[in-house]
Amino acid sequence: MENNRILVIGGGLGGLMTAIILQKNNYDVTIVEKNSRAGGLLQSFKRKTCNFDTGMHYIGSLDKGQVMYKLFKYFEIFDMLNLKRMDADRYDVFKIGDKTYNYPFGWKAFKKQMLDYFPNEGEALEKYVRKVIEVSKSHDLYSLRYPIDESMTQSSYMEEGVDDFVKSITNNVELQNVLLATNPIYAGRQHKSSLYMHSVIHNYYNNSAYKVVGGGEEVAQSFVKVFTGLGGKIIVNEEIVKLDVKEKSVVGAISRSGQKYESDYFISNVHPSLTMKMVDDQFLRKSYKKRLLNQKNTISTFSLHIKLKKSVVPSMNYTFYRYLDNNIWSVDNYKPDTLPNEYIIYTPATNDSETMSKCISVLTYMSYDQVKQWEGTSHKSRPKDYLQWKQQMVDKILKVLEEDFPGIVGNIEHVEALSPLSYKDYVNNVAGEMYGIEHDFNNALYSKIFPKTKLKNLYLTGQNINMHGMLGVALASLLTVKDFVPINDLLKDINPENDIDIVQ
Ligand SMILES: Cc1cc2nc3c(=O)[nH]c(=O)nc-3n(C[C@H](O)[C@H](O)[C@H](O)COP(=O)(O)OP(=O)(O)OC[C@H]3O[C@@H](n4cnc5c(N)ncnc54)[C@H](O)[C@@H]3O)c2cc1C
Repeated sequence: MENNRILVIGGGLGGLMTAIILQKNNYDVTIVEKNSRAGGLLQSFKRKTCNFDTGMHYIGSLDKGQVMYKLFKYFEIFDMLNLKRMDADRYDVFKIGDKTYNYPFGWKAFKKQMLDYFPNEGEALEKYVRKVIEVSKSHDLYSLRYPIDESMTQSSYMEEGVDDFVKSITNNVELQNVLLATNPIYAGRQHKSSLYMHSVIHNYYNNSAYKVVGGGEEVAQSFVKVFTGLGGKIIVNEEIVKLDVKEKSVVGAISRSGQKYESDYFISNVHPSLTMKMVDDQFLRKSYKKRLLNQKNTISTFSLHIKLKKSVVPSMNYTFYRYLDNNIWSVDNYKPDTLPNEYIIYTPATNDSETMSKCISVLTYMSYDQVKQWEGTSHKSRPKDYLQWKQQMVDKILKVLEEDFPGIVGNIEHVEALSPLSYKDYVNNVAGEMYGIEHDFNNALYSKIFPKTKLKNLYLTGQNINMHGMLGVALASLLTVKDFVPINDLLKDINPENDIDIVQ
Protein backbone atom coordinates (compact mmCIF):
# COMPACT_ATOMS: atom_id res chain seq x y z
CA MET A 1 0.00 0.00 0.00
CA GLU A 2 1.33 3.45 -0.93
CA ASN A 3 1.07 6.48 1.35
CA ASN A 4 0.46 4.23 4.30
CA ARG A 5 2.81 5.72 6.88
CA ILE A 6 1.06 7.08 9.95
CA LEU A 7 2.68 8.90 12.83
CA VAL A 8 0.72 8.88 16.08
CA ILE A 9 1.75 11.64 18.46
CA GLY A 10 1.29 10.42 22.03
CA GLY A 11 1.02 6.84 23.24
CA GLY A 12 -1.83 7.14 25.73
CA LEU A 13 -4.79 4.79 25.58
CA GLY A 14 -6.16 6.68 22.56
CA GLY A 15 -2.88 6.62 20.66
CA LEU A 16 -2.35 2.92 21.36
CA MET A 17 -5.87 1.83 20.38
CA THR A 18 -5.85 3.91 17.20
CA ALA A 19 -2.38 2.66 16.29
CA ILE A 20 -3.31 -1.01 16.73
CA ILE A 21 -6.42 -0.76 14.53
CA LEU A 22 -4.39 0.91 11.77
CA GLN A 23 -1.43 -1.45 12.08
CA LYS A 24 -3.84 -4.40 11.89
CA ASN A 25 -5.22 -2.89 8.68
CA ASN A 26 -1.86 -2.80 6.92
CA TYR A 27 -0.76 0.73 7.73
CA ASP A 28 2.78 1.33 8.86
CA VAL A 29 2.35 3.06 12.20
CA THR A 30 4.87 4.73 14.49
CA ILE A 31 3.99 6.19 17.89
CA VAL A 32 6.09 9.02 19.29
CA GLU A 33 5.65 9.34 23.06
CA LYS A 34 7.11 12.03 25.30
CA ASN A 35 7.49 9.81 28.38
CA SER A 36 9.81 6.88 28.87
CA ARG A 37 6.84 4.52 28.44
CA ALA A 38 3.51 4.55 26.68
CA GLY A 39 0.21 4.47 28.58
CA GLY A 40 -0.50 8.07 29.61
CA LEU A 41 -3.21 8.14 32.29
CA LEU A 42 -3.13 4.36 32.52
CA GLN A 43 0.08 4.73 34.44
CA SER A 44 0.37 2.83 37.68
CA PHE A 45 3.43 2.58 39.88
CA LYS A 46 4.76 0.21 42.50
CA ARG A 47 5.80 1.40 45.95
CA LYS A 48 6.65 -0.96 48.75
CA THR A 49 4.64 -3.92 47.41
CA CYS A 50 1.60 -1.79 46.46
CA ASN A 51 0.52 -1.28 42.83
CA PHE A 52 -1.08 2.13 42.66
CA ASP A 53 -3.23 3.41 39.79
CA THR A 54 -2.80 7.11 39.18
CA GLY A 55 -5.69 7.38 36.71
CA MET A 56 -7.95 4.69 35.36
CA HIS A 57 -8.77 2.06 38.01
CA TYR A 58 -11.92 0.25 36.89
CA ILE A 59 -13.28 -0.88 33.55
CA GLY A 60 -16.91 -1.58 32.67
CA SER A 61 -18.75 -4.02 30.38
CA LEU A 62 -16.11 -6.75 30.36
CA ASP A 63 -18.35 -9.78 30.91
CA LYS A 64 -18.39 -12.17 27.97
CA GLY A 65 -20.13 -10.62 24.96
CA GLN A 66 -20.27 -7.09 26.39
CA VAL A 67 -18.84 -4.05 24.62
CA MET A 68 -15.44 -3.83 26.26
CA TYR A 69 -15.04 -7.62 26.17
CA LYS A 70 -15.48 -7.52 22.38
CA LEU A 71 -13.03 -4.64 22.09
CA PHE A 72 -10.41 -6.29 24.32
CA LYS A 73 -10.76 -9.46 22.22
CA TYR A 74 -10.33 -7.44 19.02
CA PHE A 75 -7.25 -5.72 20.48
CA GLU A 76 -6.01 -9.19 21.55
CA ILE A 77 -5.29 -8.11 25.11
CA PHE A 78 -8.13 -9.89 26.92
CA ASP A 79 -6.14 -13.06 27.63
CA MET A 80 -3.05 -11.14 28.76
CA LEU A 81 -4.82 -9.54 31.71
CA ASN A 82 -5.56 -10.78 35.18
CA LEU A 83 -9.00 -9.25 35.66
CA LYS A 84 -10.92 -9.18 38.92
CA ARG A 85 -14.70 -8.81 38.73
CA MET A 86 -15.95 -6.31 41.27
CA ASP A 87 -18.64 -7.17 43.85
CA ALA A 88 -21.90 -7.95 42.04
CA ASP A 89 -24.02 -6.55 44.86
CA ARG A 90 -21.98 -3.35 45.27
CA TYR A 91 -19.46 -2.41 42.61
CA ASP A 92 -19.99 1.26 43.56
CA VAL A 93 -20.65 2.38 47.12
CA PHE A 94 -21.70 5.94 47.94
CA LYS A 95 -21.62 7.50 51.38
CA ILE A 96 -23.55 10.74 51.23
CA GLY A 97 -23.56 12.60 54.52
CA ASP A 98 -23.99 9.77 57.01
CA LYS A 99 -25.91 7.28 54.84
CA THR A 100 -24.47 4.58 52.58
CA TYR A 101 -25.92 3.24 49.33
CA ASN A 102 -24.78 0.39 47.07
CA TYR A 103 -25.09 0.02 43.29
CA PRO A 104 -25.32 -3.64 42.15
CA PHE A 105 -24.82 -4.96 38.59
CA GLY A 106 -27.89 -5.26 36.34
CA TRP A 107 -30.90 -2.96 36.04
CA LYS A 108 -33.27 -5.36 37.74
CA ALA A 109 -31.02 -5.62 40.76
CA PHE A 110 -30.45 -1.87 40.71
CA LYS A 111 -34.16 -1.15 40.82
CA LYS A 112 -34.68 -3.65 43.62
CA GLN A 113 -31.82 -2.21 45.66
CA MET A 114 -33.04 1.35 45.19
CA LEU A 115 -36.60 0.32 46.15
CA ASP A 116 -35.19 -1.03 49.42
CA TYR A 117 -33.80 2.44 50.11
CA PHE A 118 -36.76 4.36 48.68
CA PRO A 119 -39.89 2.18 48.96
CA ASN A 120 -42.23 4.98 47.83
CA GLU A 121 -40.29 5.86 44.70
CA GLY A 122 -41.10 2.90 42.45
CA GLU A 123 -42.50 5.05 39.67
CA ALA A 124 -39.52 7.42 39.62
CA LEU A 125 -37.08 4.50 39.61
CA GLU A 126 -38.95 2.84 36.76
CA LYS A 127 -38.72 6.09 34.77
CA TYR A 128 -35.03 6.51 35.56
CA VAL A 129 -34.04 3.01 34.48
CA ARG A 130 -36.22 3.13 31.37
CA LYS A 131 -34.67 6.42 30.30
CA VAL A 132 -31.07 5.34 30.91
CA ILE A 133 -31.69 2.22 28.83
CA GLU A 134 -33.39 4.25 26.07
CA VAL A 135 -30.48 6.70 25.93
CA SER A 136 -27.87 3.95 25.93
CA LYS A 137 -29.65 2.10 23.14
CA SER A 138 -29.97 5.26 21.05
CA HIS A 139 -26.33 5.21 20.10
CA ASP A 140 -25.30 2.68 17.47
CA LEU A 141 -21.56 3.07 17.87
CA TYR A 142 -21.76 2.31 21.60
CA SER A 143 -23.28 -1.09 20.81
CA LEU A 144 -20.86 -1.66 17.90
CA ARG A 145 -23.90 -2.23 15.69
CA TYR A 146 -23.66 -2.18 11.91
CA PRO A 147 -24.40 -1.09 9.29
CA ILE A 148 -23.88 2.33 10.79
CA ASP A 149 -24.34 5.73 9.17
CA GLU A 150 -22.87 9.18 9.52
CA SER A 151 -25.10 10.10 12.46
CA MET A 152 -23.27 7.57 14.59
CA THR A 153 -21.80 10.18 16.89
CA GLN A 154 -25.04 12.07 17.41
CA SER A 155 -27.53 11.67 20.19
CA SER A 156 -30.21 14.21 21.02
CA TYR A 157 -29.68 13.28 24.65
CA MET A 158 -26.39 15.20 24.48
CA GLU A 159 -28.58 18.30 24.55
CA GLU A 160 -30.57 17.36 27.65
CA GLY A 161 -29.39 17.94 31.21
CA VAL A 162 -29.22 14.97 33.56
CA ASP A 163 -30.01 17.05 36.64
CA ASP A 164 -33.16 18.43 34.99
CA PHE A 165 -34.21 14.92 34.02
CA VAL A 166 -33.75 13.47 37.51
CA LYS A 167 -35.61 16.41 39.05
CA SER A 168 -38.46 15.84 36.60
CA ILE A 169 -39.02 12.29 37.85
CA THR A 170 -38.83 12.84 41.60
CA ASN A 171 -38.92 15.59 44.22
CA ASN A 172 -37.13 13.38 46.68
CA VAL A 173 -33.76 15.12 47.11
CA GLU A 174 -32.15 12.10 48.73
CA LEU A 175 -33.06 9.92 45.74
CA GLN A 176 -31.92 12.63 43.32
CA ASN A 177 -28.55 12.61 45.08
CA VAL A 178 -28.21 8.84 44.96
CA LEU A 179 -29.07 8.69 41.24
CA LEU A 180 -26.60 11.45 40.41
CA ALA A 181 -23.81 10.32 42.73
CA THR A 182 -21.72 8.75 39.96
CA ASN A 183 -20.87 12.20 38.64
CA PRO A 184 -17.19 12.12 39.74
CA ILE A 185 -16.50 9.59 36.96
CA TYR A 186 -17.22 12.34 34.46
CA ALA A 187 -16.47 15.41 36.63
CA GLY A 188 -20.18 16.20 36.44
CA ARG A 189 -21.61 19.71 36.60
CA GLN A 190 -25.14 20.32 37.77
CA HIS A 191 -26.18 22.63 34.94
CA LYS A 192 -23.85 21.26 32.24
CA SER A 193 -23.70 17.46 32.31
CA SER A 194 -25.86 15.71 29.77
CA LEU A 195 -28.30 12.90 30.16
CA TYR A 196 -26.28 11.12 27.47
CA MET A 197 -22.95 11.16 29.33
CA HIS A 198 -24.58 10.09 32.59
CA SER A 199 -26.64 7.30 31.05
CA VAL A 200 -23.98 5.73 28.89
CA ILE A 201 -21.44 5.68 31.71
CA HIS A 202 -23.90 4.35 34.29
CA ASN A 203 -25.08 1.65 31.88
CA TYR A 204 -21.48 0.73 31.00
CA TYR A 205 -20.61 -0.02 34.63
CA ASN A 206 -24.04 -1.44 35.45
CA ASN A 207 -23.33 -4.25 32.95
CA SER A 208 -20.22 -5.36 34.85
CA ALA A 209 -17.03 -3.81 36.22
CA TYR A 210 -13.52 -5.11 36.71
CA LYS A 211 -10.21 -4.07 38.20
CA VAL A 212 -6.91 -5.21 36.77
CA VAL A 213 -4.46 -7.02 39.03
CA GLY A 214 -1.22 -5.07 38.62
CA GLY A 215 -3.11 -1.89 37.69
CA GLY A 216 -3.74 0.11 34.52
CA GLU A 217 -0.09 -0.24 33.55
CA GLU A 218 -0.79 -3.90 32.74
CA VAL A 219 -3.41 -2.78 30.24
CA ALA A 220 -1.04 -0.24 28.71
CA GLN A 221 1.80 -2.72 28.43
CA SER A 222 -0.52 -5.33 26.87
CA PHE A 223 -1.47 -2.79 24.19
CA VAL A 224 2.23 -2.07 23.66
CA LYS A 225 2.98 -5.80 23.26
CA VAL A 226 0.22 -6.28 20.71
CA PHE A 227 1.17 -3.17 18.74
CA THR A 228 4.89 -3.97 18.57
CA GLY A 229 4.04 -7.62 17.88
CA LEU A 230 2.16 -6.45 14.79
CA GLY A 231 5.29 -4.61 13.64
CA GLY A 232 4.39 -1.16 14.98
CA LYS A 233 7.16 1.05 16.31
CA ILE A 234 7.19 3.15 19.48
CA ILE A 235 9.71 5.92 19.97
CA VAL A 236 9.84 7.10 23.59
CA ASN A 237 11.30 10.18 25.29
CA GLU A 238 10.44 12.34 22.31
CA GLU A 239 8.06 15.25 22.77
CA ILE A 240 6.60 16.73 19.61
CA VAL A 241 6.54 20.52 19.81
CA LYS A 242 5.82 21.63 16.24
CA LEU A 243 4.03 20.48 13.13
CA ASP A 244 5.62 21.55 9.89
CA VAL A 245 2.89 22.41 7.38
CA LYS A 246 3.05 22.85 3.60
CA GLU A 247 0.02 23.47 1.40
CA LYS A 248 -2.53 22.55 4.04
CA SER A 249 -0.78 19.25 4.85
CA VAL A 250 1.52 18.33 7.68
CA VAL A 251 4.88 17.22 6.32
CA GLY A 252 6.73 16.61 9.55
CA ALA A 253 6.44 16.51 13.33
CA ILE A 254 9.38 18.12 15.07
CA SER A 255 10.44 17.05 18.54
CA ARG A 256 11.96 19.12 21.33
CA SER A 257 15.31 17.47 20.59
CA GLY A 258 15.09 18.77 17.01
CA GLN A 259 14.31 15.47 15.31
CA LYS A 260 11.86 15.68 12.39
CA TYR A 261 9.48 12.77 11.83
CA GLU A 262 8.04 12.58 8.32
CA SER A 263 4.90 10.65 7.51
CA ASP A 264 1.93 10.49 5.16
CA TYR A 265 -0.61 11.02 7.95
CA PHE A 266 -0.41 12.37 11.49
CA ILE A 267 -2.77 11.50 14.32
CA SER A 268 -2.49 13.44 17.54
CA ASN A 269 -3.39 11.92 20.90
CA VAL A 270 -2.37 15.21 22.50
CA HIS A 271 -5.09 17.59 23.75
CA PRO A 272 -6.64 19.34 20.68
CA SER A 273 -5.74 22.83 21.90
CA LEU A 274 -2.11 21.84 22.45
CA THR A 275 -2.07 20.16 19.05
CA MET A 276 -3.31 23.39 17.48
CA LYS A 277 -0.54 25.30 19.24
CA MET A 278 1.94 23.15 17.32
CA VAL A 279 0.64 24.65 14.05
CA ASP A 280 1.60 28.16 12.93
CA ASP A 281 -1.40 30.54 12.84
CA GLN A 282 -1.23 31.14 9.10
CA PHE A 283 -2.20 27.55 8.30
CA LEU A 284 -5.53 27.40 10.12
CA ARG A 285 -8.72 29.41 9.94
CA LYS A 286 -8.77 31.76 12.91
CA SER A 287 -12.25 30.73 14.07
CA TYR A 288 -11.37 27.01 13.95
CA LYS A 289 -8.18 27.37 15.94
CA LYS A 290 -9.86 29.72 18.40
CA ARG A 291 -12.65 27.22 19.06
CA LEU A 292 -10.20 24.45 19.85
CA LEU A 293 -7.99 26.72 21.94
CA ASN A 294 -10.94 28.05 23.96
CA GLN A 295 -12.46 24.76 25.05
CA LYS A 296 -13.10 24.51 28.79
CA ASN A 297 -11.52 21.54 30.52
CA THR A 298 -12.72 19.37 33.37
CA ILE A 299 -11.37 19.93 36.87
CA SER A 300 -8.14 18.31 38.05
CA THR A 301 -7.42 16.07 41.01
CA PHE A 302 -5.12 15.73 43.99
CA SER A 303 -4.43 12.08 44.72
CA LEU A 304 -2.82 10.19 47.58
CA HIS A 305 -1.37 6.71 47.27
CA ILE A 306 -0.79 5.29 50.71
CA LYS A 307 1.05 2.22 52.03
CA LEU A 308 -0.02 1.38 55.56
CA LYS A 309 2.02 -0.52 58.15
CA LYS A 310 -1.07 -2.42 59.28
CA SER A 311 -4.21 -3.22 57.30
CA VAL A 312 -6.74 -0.85 58.82
CA VAL A 313 -9.01 -0.33 55.79
CA PRO A 314 -11.19 -3.00 54.21
CA SER A 315 -10.00 -4.44 50.94
CA MET A 316 -12.53 -2.78 48.65
CA ASN A 317 -13.67 -4.79 45.67
CA TYR A 318 -15.73 -1.74 44.82
CA THR A 319 -15.19 1.98 44.38
CA PHE A 320 -16.13 4.04 47.41
CA TYR A 321 -17.44 7.56 46.76
CA ARG A 322 -17.62 9.80 49.79
CA TYR A 323 -19.58 13.06 49.91
CA LEU A 324 -18.96 14.81 53.20
CA ASP A 325 -22.28 16.60 53.10
CA ASN A 326 -25.50 16.19 51.16
CA ASN A 327 -24.36 18.07 48.11
CA ILE A 328 -23.21 15.73 45.37
CA TRP A 329 -22.26 18.41 42.81
CA SER A 330 -18.74 18.79 44.15
CA VAL A 331 -17.25 20.55 41.12
CA ASP A 332 -19.88 23.29 41.29
CA ASN A 333 -19.39 23.57 45.03
CA TYR A 334 -15.63 23.42 44.92
CA LYS A 335 -14.07 25.56 47.65
CA PRO A 336 -10.29 25.44 47.90
CA ASP A 337 -10.32 26.38 51.59
CA THR A 338 -12.56 23.59 52.76
CA LEU A 339 -11.11 20.86 50.57
CA PRO A 340 -11.70 17.94 50.49
CA ASN A 341 -15.48 18.18 50.07
CA GLU A 342 -15.63 14.71 48.58
CA TYR A 343 -13.24 11.90 47.78
CA ILE A 344 -13.06 8.57 45.99
CA ILE A 345 -11.14 5.75 47.64
CA TYR A 346 -10.14 2.38 46.21
CA THR A 347 -7.74 -0.42 47.00
CA PRO A 348 -5.73 -2.21 44.30
CA ALA A 349 -6.93 -5.58 43.03
CA THR A 350 -4.83 -8.54 44.17
CA ASN A 351 -5.01 -12.29 43.71
CA ASP A 352 -5.44 -12.78 47.46
CA SER A 353 -8.78 -13.03 49.14
CA GLU A 354 -7.65 -10.65 51.89
CA THR A 355 -10.41 -8.76 53.66
CA MET A 356 -8.24 -5.84 54.77
CA SER A 357 -5.73 -3.84 52.75
CA LYS A 358 -2.46 -2.03 53.34
CA CYS A 359 -2.61 -0.13 50.05
CA ILE A 360 -5.10 2.65 49.27
CA SER A 361 -5.55 5.37 46.69
CA VAL A 362 -7.62 8.47 47.29
CA LEU A 363 -8.72 11.07 44.75
CA THR A 364 -10.22 14.43 45.48
CA TYR A 365 -11.02 17.31 43.16
CA MET A 366 -8.56 20.17 42.94
CA SER A 367 -8.50 23.15 40.66
CA TYR A 368 -5.32 23.81 38.71
CA ASP A 369 -5.40 27.40 40.02
CA GLN A 370 -4.10 26.07 43.31
CA VAL A 371 -0.80 25.03 41.76
CA LYS A 372 -0.49 27.48 38.89
CA GLN A 373 2.18 29.51 40.67
CA TRP A 374 4.56 26.53 40.43
CA GLU A 375 3.93 25.90 36.72
CA GLY A 376 7.13 25.38 34.79
CA THR A 377 9.11 23.98 37.75
CA SER A 378 10.65 20.58 37.20
CA HIS A 379 9.01 17.57 38.84
CA LYS A 380 12.51 16.44 39.84
CA SER A 381 13.19 19.55 41.93
CA ARG A 382 9.98 21.35 42.90
CA PRO A 383 10.49 24.43 45.11
CA LYS A 384 10.31 24.15 48.87
CA ASP A 385 7.07 26.14 49.24
CA TYR A 386 5.32 23.76 46.80
CA LEU A 387 6.47 20.75 48.80
CA GLN A 388 5.29 22.38 52.02
CA TRP A 389 1.90 23.21 50.50
CA LYS A 390 1.61 19.65 49.21
CA GLN A 391 2.32 18.24 52.67
CA GLN A 392 -0.37 20.47 54.14
CA MET A 393 -2.85 19.10 51.60
CA VAL A 394 -1.82 15.53 52.44
CA ASP A 395 -2.38 16.21 56.15
CA LYS A 396 -5.76 17.79 55.51
CA ILE A 397 -6.98 14.83 53.47
CA LEU A 398 -5.61 12.29 55.93
CA LYS A 399 -7.49 14.03 58.74
CA VAL A 400 -10.76 13.62 56.84
CA LEU A 401 -9.95 9.99 55.96
CA GLU A 402 -9.20 9.18 59.57
CA GLU A 403 -12.81 9.98 60.47
CA ASP A 404 -14.12 7.37 58.03
CA PHE A 405 -11.29 4.85 58.46
CA PRO A 406 -9.89 5.17 61.98
CA GLY A 407 -6.26 4.08 62.33
CA ILE A 408 -4.95 5.36 59.00
CA VAL A 409 -2.99 8.30 60.38
CA GLY A 410 -1.14 6.24 62.98
CA ASN A 411 -0.22 3.55 60.45
CA ILE A 412 1.26 5.40 57.52
CA GLU A 413 4.37 3.78 56.09
CA HIS A 414 4.56 5.79 52.88
CA VAL A 415 2.48 8.42 51.06
CA GLU A 416 2.90 9.50 47.47
CA ALA A 417 0.87 12.57 46.53
CA LEU A 418 0.12 13.78 43.01
CA SER A 419 -1.14 17.31 42.44
CA PRO A 420 -2.75 18.83 39.32
CA LEU A 421 0.77 19.86 38.38
CA SER A 422 1.97 16.23 38.52
CA TYR A 423 -0.86 15.17 36.19
CA LYS A 424 -0.28 18.05 33.80
CA ASP A 425 3.46 17.46 33.62
CA TYR A 426 3.15 13.72 33.21
CA VAL A 427 0.75 13.59 30.29
CA ASN A 428 1.15 17.16 29.06
CA ASN A 429 -2.43 18.30 29.15
CA VAL A 430 -3.76 21.83 29.61
CA ALA A 431 -4.38 22.07 33.35
CA GLY A 432 -4.08 18.61 34.83
CA GLU A 433 -7.70 17.98 33.79
CA MET A 434 -9.00 14.57 34.82
CA TYR A 435 -11.19 13.90 31.82
CA GLY A 436 -10.18 16.30 29.06
CA ILE A 437 -12.65 18.77 27.57
CA GLU A 438 -15.79 19.59 29.54
CA HIS A 439 -19.06 18.87 27.73
CA ASP A 440 -21.97 21.24 28.22
CA PHE A 441 -25.42 20.14 27.09
CA ASN A 442 -26.46 23.80 26.68
CA ASN A 443 -24.12 24.05 23.72
CA ALA A 444 -23.28 20.47 22.86
CA LEU A 445 -21.96 21.30 19.40
CA TYR A 446 -19.32 23.70 20.71
CA SER A 447 -17.49 21.03 22.71
CA LYS A 448 -17.82 18.43 19.97
CA ILE A 449 -14.39 17.80 18.53
CA PHE A 450 -14.18 16.06 15.18
CA PRO A 451 -11.20 13.76 14.62
CA LYS A 452 -10.53 15.18 11.17
CA THR A 453 -8.88 18.58 11.45
CA LYS A 454 -8.77 21.39 8.89
CA LEU A 455 -5.35 20.19 7.76
CA LYS A 456 -5.62 17.50 5.10
CA ASN A 457 -3.68 14.73 6.80
CA LEU A 458 -3.93 15.65 10.50
CA TYR A 459 -6.36 13.79 12.76
CA LEU A 460 -7.11 13.76 16.48
CA THR A 461 -7.81 10.87 18.82
CA GLY A 462 -8.22 10.18 22.56
CA GLN A 463 -10.59 11.25 25.30
CA ASN A 464 -11.32 14.70 23.88
CA ILE A 465 -13.09 13.21 20.88
CA ASN A 466 -16.41 11.73 21.92
CA MET A 467 -16.03 10.95 25.64
CA HIS A 468 -13.37 10.14 28.27
CA GLY A 469 -12.50 6.85 29.92
CA MET A 470 -11.76 3.44 28.47
CA LEU A 471 -15.11 3.32 26.64
CA GLY A 472 -15.01 6.90 25.34
CA VAL A 473 -11.43 6.55 24.12
CA ALA A 474 -12.14 3.22 22.41
CA LEU A 475 -15.12 4.66 20.54
CA ALA A 476 -13.05 7.73 19.66
CA SER A 477 -10.42 5.51 18.08
CA LEU A 478 -13.13 4.00 15.82
CA LEU A 479 -14.18 7.50 14.79
CA THR A 480 -10.60 8.55 14.11
CA VAL A 481 -9.78 5.61 11.85
CA LYS A 482 -12.93 5.74 9.74
CA ASP A 483 -11.15 7.62 6.94
CA PHE A 484 -8.56 4.82 6.81
CA VAL A 485 -10.58 1.67 7.44
CA PRO A 486 -14.23 1.22 6.32
CA ILE A 487 -16.18 1.53 9.56
CA ASN A 488 -18.65 -1.25 8.83
CA ASP A 489 -15.85 -3.70 8.04
CA LEU A 490 -14.13 -2.72 11.24
CA LEU A 491 -17.29 -3.16 13.31
CA LYS A 492 -17.74 -6.58 11.69
CA ASP A 493 -14.22 -7.54 12.76
CA ILE A 494 -14.86 -6.41 16.33
CA ASN A 495 -18.38 -7.76 16.66
CA PRO A 496 -18.74 -10.53 14.04
CA GLU A 497 -22.12 -11.70 15.35
CA ASN A 498 -23.52 -8.13 15.50
CA ASP A 499 -25.06 -9.29 18.72
CA ILE A 500 -24.28 -6.93 21.57
CA ASP A 501 -27.18 -6.25 23.85
CA ILE A 502 -25.80 -3.31 25.73
CA VAL A 503 -28.37 -3.57 28.48
CA GLN A 504 -28.21 -6.40 31.04
C1 LIG B 1 -7.56 10.28 38.36
C2 LIG B 1 -8.23 9.66 37.18
C3 LIG B 1 -9.03 8.55 37.35
C4 LIG B 1 -9.63 7.95 36.24
N1 LIG B 1 -10.36 6.79 36.42
C5 LIG B 1 -10.88 6.16 35.35
C6 LIG B 1 -11.53 4.89 35.50
O1 LIG B 1 -11.60 4.33 36.59
N2 LIG B 1 -12.04 4.30 34.37
C7 LIG B 1 -11.93 4.86 33.13
O2 LIG B 1 -12.39 4.27 32.14
N3 LIG B 1 -11.29 6.05 32.97
C8 LIG B 1 -10.76 6.70 34.04
N4 LIG B 1 -10.08 7.87 33.87
C9 LIG B 1 -10.00 8.45 32.52
C10 LIG B 1 -8.98 7.73 31.64
O3 LIG B 1 -7.81 7.48 32.37
C11 LIG B 1 -8.67 8.62 30.44
O4 LIG B 1 -9.88 8.99 29.81
C12 LIG B 1 -7.79 7.96 29.39
O5 LIG B 1 -6.72 7.26 29.97
C13 LIG B 1 -7.29 9.06 28.46
O6 LIG B 1 -6.49 8.53 27.44
P1 LIG B 1 -5.94 9.45 26.27
O7 LIG B 1 -5.12 8.60 25.40
O8 LIG B 1 -7.02 10.24 25.68
O9 LIG B 1 -5.03 10.56 27.01
P2 LIG B 1 -3.64 10.44 27.79
O10 LIG B 1 -3.63 9.26 28.67
O11 LIG B 1 -3.45 11.78 28.42
O12 LIG B 1 -2.56 10.23 26.66
C14 LIG B 1 -1.88 11.25 26.00
C15 LIG B 1 -0.49 10.72 25.69
O13 LIG B 1 0.20 11.67 24.88
C16 LIG B 1 1.52 11.89 25.40
N5 LIG B 1 1.92 13.22 24.97
C17 LIG B 1 1.38 14.40 25.35
N6 LIG B 1 1.96 15.42 24.70
C18 LIG B 1 2.88 14.88 23.86
C19 LIG B 1 3.78 15.43 22.90
N7 LIG B 1 3.82 16.73 22.69
N8 LIG B 1 4.59 14.58 22.22
C20 LIG B 1 4.52 13.24 22.42
N9 LIG B 1 3.69 12.68 23.34
C21 LIG B 1 2.87 13.48 24.03
C22 LIG B 1 1.32 11.73 26.90
O14 LIG B 1 2.53 11.50 27.59
C23 LIG B 1 0.34 10.55 26.97
O15 LIG B 1 1.00 9.33 26.92
C24 LIG B 1 -9.45 8.49 34.96
C25 LIG B 1 -8.65 9.62 34.79
C26 LIG B 1 -8.04 10.20 35.89
C27 LIG B 1 -7.16 11.39 35.70
